[in-house]
Amino acid sequence: MGKLTEASVVEKVPKELLIGGSWRPATGGGTLDVVDPSTGAVIAAVADATPADALDALAAADETFEEWKGSAPRDRADILHAAYELVTERTDALALLMTLEMGKTLAESAAEITYAANFLRFYAEEAVRIDGRFTRNEAGSGRVLTLRQPVGPCLLITPWNFPMAMGARKIAPAVAAGCTMVVKPAQQTPLSMLALAEILGEAGLPDGVLNVVTAASSGEVMRPLVEDPRARKLSFTGSTGVGRTLIEQAAKRVLRVSMELGGNAPFLVFEDADLDAAVAGAMIAKMRNIGEACTSANRFLVHESVAAEFTDRLAAKIGALRIGRGTEEDVDVGPLINADQREKVDELVRDAVERGATLLTGGKPVAGAGYFYEPTVLGDVPAGARLLKEEIFGPVAPVTSFASEAEAVAAANDSEYGLVAYVFTADLSRAFRVCEALQTGMIGLNQGLVSNVGAPFGGVKASGFGREGGPEGLHEYLETKYIALNV
Ligand code: NAP
Repeated sequence: MGKLTEASVVEKVPKELLIGGSWRPATGGGTLDVVDPSTGAVIAAVADATPADALDALAAADETFEEWKGSAPRDRADILHAAYELVTERTDALALLMTLEMGKTLAESAAEITYAANFLRFYAEEAVRIDGRFTRNEAGSGRVLTLRQPVGPCLLITPWNFPMAMGARKIAPAVAAGCTMVVKPAQQTPLSMLALAEILGEAGLPDGVLNVVTAASSGEVMRPLVEDPRARKLSFTGSTGVGRTLIEQAAKRVLRVSMELGGNAPFLVFEDADLDAAVAGAMIAKMRNIGEACTSANRFLVHESVAAEFTDRLAAKIGALRIGRGTEEDVDVGPLINADQREKVDELVRDAVERGATLLTGGKPVAGAGYFYEPTVLGDVPAGARLLKEEIFGPVAPVTSFASEAEAVAAANDSEYGLVAYVFTADLSRAFRVCEALQTGMIGLNQGLVSNVGAPFGGVKASGFGREGGPEGLHEYLETKYIALNV
């Protein structure tokens, strides 16, 4: 491979729609621009699909399903393994591509490529372990046999914040299960998904199993597919607002859905916590992915006896982070995804300060090109501040204090969201009590990161339903069929 340059990695990626194994332009030739958020410059243009193109993609997935569902599990495993190897070999080029379209640092992009590759490997291993069960029925008069079969052609819709991992987390189990699919990546970051699709083809995935549609008018292009009886499953990762719309659309056909939606993670620090570990965990839980993660710590709830010390230490660390283009060395924090996202973050910070929060570091957009925002810590954030209720999706850490465990748990649960919570305590009894009382799908206990390919990722309440990762993630793409045996 030649020397990696920004131009060469972008140039190499297919920019067209992948339908039935062929790359083709959108009907009418429309394109949509991909922008580098660190400069605001257009770096590529990809096909802008029409609803008719998307229906062609669904037709390809549907036509391929009959044959693909009968493929040998070992063959599906081998394809996923080969894709794992290719993604891993090409980590540097894929990381550069991701940084260019999404903004995070090269180190963070490389970590996401590894995370994505690990889903391919994990589900390669699961593909050959799909089982059913066989028992005598309760009365002893017959037998119960269950089969697990692929659900059918799937619609997979992914967000821009983890441009490859959110796709790999759906595609890998769908392939392992024997499903076909139409994938629609976010319009801000289509290149990483197009690169992954090309790699899966190189790895031997048959034509028509994976179809990719990039589009500027997502609602208009995807709605006919959601309403089409050939689609048998919708898996969506994105905001709760769009998730609600899709659930409504899917309800008409009773389409099976999985929803990985927004979060508002509480980060609880008790008086007995190891403060070094809590601050280190906070840096990961808050600053990973520039704060643009559904798992991002959105509210720091700290016991009043340690709140000042925790806040000062966090502010010192966050204030020392270096902002810059993700492609440059010695940069810790890249830009936000676009001007709207930066404006929203700034609005939330201004609202908190106007209501009386103390600004300890940061607090404003960075002047100049790109959509950079200063990493920010706010202390003594009053209860009414909007950022305690809304998903911030930026590098802003609001800290509030509590006096008792009951108060902390009540505050943590006072949210429509329930994706993840972080708990820092050295007391084992308290750890279990609090973990059991928190209304979230996941908890980081004395750690600031929960994402793991072998674990069930997902939320409760307005954070959605369904799980991705682990064996649970494969079950999302399988139907259980029961055969009653009169023997
Ligand atoms: P978004 O605006 O909801 O978009 C997500 C995806 O849905 C994009 O591909 C988008 O396409 C598409 N979309 C938008 N409107 C649609 C419609 N009416 N019909 C069909 N598709 C539609 O979310 P985002 O801003 O990209 O991502 C950030 C959100 O994702 C945050 O709320 C974050 O918490 C959540 N998230 C959740 C998880 C999780 O696992 N729980 C993981 C990562 C992110 P366009 O690009 O064309 O708008």
